[in-house]
Amino acid sequence: MKVFLSRDLGIDLGTANTLVHMKGKGIVICEPSVVAIRSDNNEPLAVGDRAKEMIGRTPGNIMAVRPLKDGVISDFNVTFKMLKYFITQALGSPFVFARPRVVICVPSGVTAVEERAVKEAAVAAGAKEPIILEEPMAAAIGADMPVSDPTGNMIVDIGGGTTEVAVISMGGIVTAGSIRVAGDEMDDAIIAYIKRHYNLSVGYQSAEEIKKKIGFAYKPEKGLVYSIKGRDLMTGLPKTIEIKSEEITLALSEPVASIIDAVKICLERTPPELSGDIMDRGIIMAGGGSLLRNLDTLLADETGIPVHLAEDPLVCVAMGTGRVLENEGILKKIASMQKS
Ligand code: ADP
Ligand code: MG
Repeated sequence: MKVFLSRDLGIDLGTANTLVHMKGKGIVICEPSVVAIRSDNNEPLAVGDRAKEMIGRTPGNIMAVRPLKDGVISDFNVTFKMLKYFITQALGSPFVFARPRVVICVPSGVTAVEERAVKEAAVAAGAKEPIILEEPMAAAIGADMPVSDPTGNMIVDIGGGTTEVAVISMGGIVTAGSIRVAGDEMDDAIIAYIKRHYNLSVGYQSAEEIKKKIGFAYKPEKGLVYSIKGRDLMTGLPKTIEIKSEEITLALSEPVASIIDAVKICLERTPPELSGDIMDRGIIMAGGGSLLRNLDTLLADETGIPVHLAEDPLVCVAMGTGRVLENEGILKKIASMQKS
């Protein structure tokens, strides 16, 4: 007798990264949500890691696109192709035994119409009855929070394009907020700072690198420096400068303050019983942006509530989608609540 493994997929269609979780296997795909397109025929040339390397380096006839950059779907067609590519990659060879069930998590700014387009892309790639899951719910489940209990669970998911804040109790979202300030805005702030203070133009990849290497939201490490290459705006020539960790903290102050404010606003709107629970259990942070050093301590100081990072912030949402597929009860509940 042959036993076929189920190939159900949980997908985190993020603004910066797309992750695919396969039942029984774990995370099988983790790549940037980027597609390189040929402008003459609109055909994708590369998707994921290879496409991200091309950002800022393409000739005129090729564009590297991030179709979900700001948490909305800017290009239907490209999103469709990207999702289809990742699902096909995850499933491997096309001799499918059964069409897999797929749970997809999208940023909360995505409209019902766009959600339908995402579902269509999943069906076109071989999925059976795809289900859309709200991102904060997936993040909370992925972070092992007791979302079904009658208790307040606060999750803050800081991605590339958006920060999503939500309070969950009894399997539903009680209060939520989403702002278009997250990791990308931090990179933009670094680019603007370096331009203003050093007359140097640096690219997005370099800015992201600086943020990851020497970025602190709060209490930067003294003596930490990083050298960056860019183009001198006065001479037009390549130039290298050294930048201090303290300067990056200063550069990041605006986006960081916006994120802290979004959390405070959500807390203000939370019913008092649930606030009490959050006070006891702490706030959980997920998403790549939460890895910015000392952002957790700053948030804790600003709110007076303990803050914990999810075990693996970058894969938390994808793990949550995977767990939903393992739990028929939650899956049925979500399927019955689908928009459309
Ligand atoms: P999304 O869910 O929107 O796709 P992710 O959760 O994958 O986003 O997070 C991507 C963001 O996290 C990017 O802006 C990236 O620069 C940022 N990031 C990743 N690692 C770190 C780090 N160590 N420090 C600061 N930011 C980070
Ligand atoms: Mg995300």
